[in-house]
Amino acid sequence: MKTWMLKTNNDPLTRTRNFLKDIWDYADLDGMLIPMYQADHKSVKQAVIHHPGSLRDADPFVPLMQANAGRMVADLARKHPNDNMAAILRPCEIRALYEQVKHTGVDLENWLLIGVDCAACFPLQDFNWRVEIAGNVEALTNEVLRNVRQGSIALDRFRPACGMCARPGTPQEEICIQLLGLPAKDTILIGINNDVIIEKLNLENVCDGLAPHELIQQREKMLKTIEERREHIRERQMNELTPDLPANIEQFITFLENCQPCTSCMEACPDGENIFSAIQNNTMNHEVVMDWISSCAECGMCEQACPKEMPLVAIADRIRRDLHVESLPI
Ligand code: SF4
Ligand code: SF4
Repeated sequence: MKTWMLKTNNDPLTRTRNFLKDIWDYADLDGMLIPMYQADHKSVKQAVIHHPGSLRDADPFVPLMQANAGRMVADLARKHPNDNMAAILRPCEIRALYEQVKHTGVDLENWLLIGVDCAACFPLQDFNWRVEIAGNVEALTNEVLRNVRQGSIALDRFRPACGMCARPGTPQEEICIQLLGLPAKDTILIGINNDVIIEKLNLENVCDGLAPHELIQQREKMLKTIEERREHIRERQMNELTPDLPANIEQFITFLENCQPCTSCMEACPDGENIFSAIQNNTMNHEVVMDWISSCAECGMCEQACPKEMPLVAIADRIRRDLHVESLPI
């Protein structure tokens, strides 16, 4: 992988938007899926934009996740197979998207996937008051960006699923926007692992030179620290699961059947279609639940949607461990 610098001049958001505009032009895109500020700049939504000028209201680093965009990319790729598109995705969205590719064979030939390091997301119920205190969404994002050098803001303020996520660094995507461990007010990094893309996107001119080895190492060191810290949190959350919560597949089936008519977790899950139709049709079995938890991207959308606030990511992880099933790679 080649790693380049973006000099941010105290404004990493604006520098990244300008970088994305350049990418848009060189890649000759028809559209981009990216979090967009709504008119009041106090809320944000994933949206497809069709003009690079709209990027002035885009926020690739917003600390909120209302839905898993990996699933949205798969749906869009099916509906508009000939459009030349890009998407900004967090690591858990990339994992979910690859599960969609595996299960549905959706073709991403015309998609440019741009991964971003994830500095974690606030719980839905906290986001609005945090925006009010900060002034607007952009100010809240900037607050988070000021803390990426140390990894992120104190983890107990974020969603439990983010606290457990040991893999917040972008995997080896076509383009990776790298933040963690870096002095974002001065420099962020762009990793590219494809020489054709480097040439096509004119990276030599779009970026501000190749990254020095020290900065690359600084980020890698931070990713290692985050991994160790969060594995520790994961253990703690696992140990805090109470005995009444499911510890194996059969108990999980009974637990989900007892929740009916609620199916919110399955509907929010990027890969929840099969389990949703199984519970609707009364055909839940060991295999369906096993498939569900084996393809889990650990995005936390299920527990965010759960009216009973069940720790579903930790429950699924405990069952996977018990069965020696690995988490998804990357
Ligand atoms: S089960 Fe939950 S954490 Fe796993 S992919 Fe589905 S929504 Fe995300
Ligand atoms: S969202 Fe919560 S209450 Fe609803 S089915 Fe899932 S675990 Fe049960």
